Amino acid sequence: MVKKVIVLLGLPGSGKGTQGALLANELTIPHISTGDIFRKMAKANTEESKLLNEYMHEGKLVPSDLVNKIVRKFILSDECKDGCILDGYPRNLKQAEYFVENIDSQVVAVFFEVENEIVVKRILGRYACESCGAVYNKYFDNPKTDGVCDNCGGHKFVYRDDDDEKTILSRIEEYKKETLPLIDYYKKKGKFFVVNAGANKEEVIKEMALIAKKI
Ligand code: AMP
Repeated sequence: MVKKVIVLLGLPGSGKGTQGALLANELTIPHISTGDIFRKMAKANTEESKLLNEYMHEGKLVPSDLVNKIVRKFILSDECKDGCILDGYPRNLKQAEYFVENIDSQVVAVFFEVENEIVVKRILGRYACESCGAVYNKYFDNPKTDGVCDNCGGHKFVYRDDDDEKTILSRIEEYKKETLPLIDYYKKKGKFFVVNAGANKEEVIKEMALIAKKI
């Protein structure tokens, strides 16, 4: 059976991470975020991790040859034998082409459509529970009990290093230049859904539930 891969597309801060994790739960397939993978790898003390840190701090895309190699390993692993959700990959046409040529799968794309201004505000307020990764926002989505994670009860929260204004603007530019062409690419390829990602979290969850039934 050809495995089903769900590709989440959208600006940084459009909600791909939060919604991707929920969808993965619902469909019982893994949620693979290349950003999360690189943040973990960047903590090591190697030449590769130094390089990753530089790209991420500048809001630039990591070179596709390296990304493709890493993602391929994950997708072909036993964990993804029934499919997976890809959050943050492919990020440009080179990666999308590599994916088609090297990984036998049926792709469903979900585009999180949202204005730049909304994502900047979301990203600047974004923080996460250090133990379970649940994402909050200091402006409009804090835990129910101050300082305690709703999901796991954790007490330690972290901000991402690349969530400062200068890096965000550079990430948005990279998105427009590199990733936006993928919208047309996937529209032409097959199953393609658009989510109004500017809506609040609950509304997006409802929209995603409808999409999940059609996947
Ligand atoms: P994200 O968490 O998806 O916003 O990714 C954070 C950073 O990781 C990006 O700004 C890039 O530097 C890097 N990154 C993540 N996914 C990719 C990818 N598919 N291709 C190149 N760079 C990536």
